[in-house]
Amino acid sequence: MMDKKNRYFELKKLLDSYSRQYYLLDDPAVTDAEYDKLYNELLAIESEFPELKDATSPSQKVGAKVSKKFKRIIHATEMLSLENAYNEEDITEFIDRVRKLANSEKIDFVLEPKFDGLSVSIKYKNGVLVNAATRGDGRVGEDVTQNILTMDIPKKIPLDYELEVRGEIIMLKKDFQELNNQKERDGEKIFANPRNAAAGSLRQLDAEITRSRKLKLFPYAIISSETNFLTQIEILETLKKSGFTVTEHFALCRTQEEAHAFYENLEKHRADLEYDIDGVVYKVNDLNLQEKLGASAKFPRHSIAYKFTAEKAETTVKDIVVQVGRTGNITPVAELIPVTVGGVVVSRATLHNKDEIEKKDIRVGDRVVVQRAGDVIPQVLYPIIEERPKDSKPFIFPNKCPCCGSTLVKEEAEVAIKCINLDCQAQIIEHLAHFVSKKAFDIDGLGEQSIRYLFEKGIVKSAPDIFEIERRNGKEFNLQNAEGWGRQSLENLFASINGAKRISLDRFIYSLGIPQVGRAVSKLIAAFWGSYSRMLTCISEGKYDDLLSIDGIGQSIVDDIRNFCLNKHNLSVIKRLAGDEHSSGYVIVTDVEQIKDGELVGKTIVFTGSLQKFSREKAKEIAEHMGAKTASSVSSKTSFVVAGENAGSKLEEARKKGIKILSEEDFEEIIKKNSQR
Ligand code: NAD
Repeated sequence: MMDKKNRYFELKKLLDSYSRQYYLLDDPAVTDAEYDKLYNELLAIESEFPELKDATSPSQKVGAKVSKKFKRIIHATEMLSLENAYNEEDITEFIDRVRKLANSEKIDFVLEPKFDGLSVSIKYKNGVLVNAATRGDGRVGEDVTQNILTMDIPKKIPLDYELEVRGEIIMLKKDFQELNNQKERDGEKIFANPRNAAAGSLRQLDAEITRSRKLKLFPYAIISSETNFLTQIEILETLKKSGFTVTEHFALCRTQEEAHAFYENLEKHRADLEYDIDGVVYKVNDLNLQEKLGASAKFPRHSIAYKFTAEKAETTVKDIVVQVGRTGNITPVAELIPVTVGGVVVSRATLHNKDEIEKKDIRVGDRVVVQRAGDVIPQVLYPIIEERPKDSKPFIFPNKCPCCGSTLVKEEAEVAIKCINLDCQAQIIEHLAHFVSKKAFDIDGLGEQSIRYLFEKGIVKSAPDIFEIERRNGKEFNLQNAEGWGRQSLENLFASINGAKRISLDRFIYSLGIPQVGRAVSKLIAAFWGSYSRMLTCISEGKYDDLLSIDGIGQSIVDDIRNFCLNKHNLSVIKRLAGDEHSSGYVIVTDVEQIKDGELVGKTIVFTGSLQKFSREKAKEIAEHMGAKTASSVSSKTSFVVAGENAGSKLEEARKKGIKILSEEDFEEIIKKNSQR
């Protein structure tokens, strides 16, 4: 007993800490399968020793406490989790329980996909969106109103009473893949799966980041004391009529067999959907009955989530190769005998880093279990030791770069092993591909193949050389004669290169490929520096720490920028590209437009309450663009407060201090007047 008790408290602690990582930091420490295994172990001990269970047990709590970085919203009606079913018997048990409590044999169920994202509750008053919150711990959620406002969802609906629309925020698989590819290219940490990516993208202090992540909402409930809907089907139809995108994959099922057929069909087509689902939710259709059934501490009794079996398969590791990324990170990849996992053929799987291979002890020749985590990135879960060939040897992580042969290094406090040779060919090619990519110089016609060719022929060794190709072509080399370069495609390429010679400062900074400096960070830095010449001055005076005053830029990003610019080669690339006081470069970097006169120049504005026509972030952006500063609290320096609906303490504070208060319409008027200047 004592052992189990100790184990119980150990599990509680572990699960709480994993939940914090998962819900608060959107960065799970273990896989869901590992979490579920420990959770089920805890449930088993609880059922043996019920006296151990209290309200602090993970089995009685929803999610985790909210993050302090957000304002809180108290849910008028709790947001609960869902009980899980893993097989048809669990479903039979669930249906029997409902029948008994309802005192009726005939129960209709609505079946919906179990979207794998995070739930939100969006409040509408008089048909207007007023606020939005995450689930948090079920009772208190995080205020994500500004973030939700950036999404393509109805801000006004034709239902004029007070209600909450509840649903799941998800990220499409393709957007997830693109985001992670981008993060990888930028040397940033990638998201484990689309669910974490959706959560990490919504729970942002800068709503513009949320906007850029293209999140989607699938609503599935309307909560209100003022409606008289009778069924779940009616709710889904009303949501659709109100302008929401409702899933097409739902069905009203009158028997368990019918429901099972729907479940099996959806499981079969799961891989073809554009987003992740991890099961089917069975819901009692009759809303009066739903209410009568009520809820336990963690789950409603009217619904259950029938989880799909994990998408796993066995195969053999043919080889383990290591790849060199743009920032020099060395990533080991398992080459597999192709195997179908959940309808998709998998032949490669990332092994993440040296620690991961060592921890799992994955070897060439091993039979392994692979899983598509979050349905997208294939993962090697573990080797099947019993089937390991007798002569197998642990994988020895190389200590030399597979491309240039330099000694690899592991920086303190980092998991990644790196090649730090800036002349390493693999890195240069990755670097050049980043330089010409859509969000950087956006040069069409230079795919990875062509870059490799130009590099290997010595035509392009570093980014500025791209702008010399046209001049040198026909003199020092002849691309027309080279394989794959037709006359038309060359003309198009030169036109694209010439068109790219005018570039905004944020794109220019982004194109340099500084570790951790992705699109969002580049924009912040560009707005701070304002112009290329100011950027050069800051570099030559070593004024990097000034960047710390930007909200969203921390020490480690500043250190990466400093290290990048202190490197002589990098600085010479910057100067060759865009010039310095001695010579002009190939490109013109346009200044961040700054308004020098107008009503808002030099003013400090505080926004409060919810604005109807703009998101808070957009309003701030416009004001800043017109020369104003924005602040989050009212002080003697505040020039005026723009108060939207439901403004609270800041409006009070402004009144007390006698600070001028503008309505949203007044603010809009000023913008109109000043943008005509
Ligand atoms: P859940 O996400 O598995 O299920 C409940 C949620 O389903 C609801 O809150 C709702 O948001 C959502 N949902 C999706 N489609 C729905 C629909 N059509 N109708 C109604 N609701 C719908 O439960 P949970 O309690 O949030 O999380 C538990 C899961 O999280 C477990 O699977 C666990 O593995 C994972 N988790 C993992 C870690 C980790 O470290 N890896 C930590 C904590 C939790």
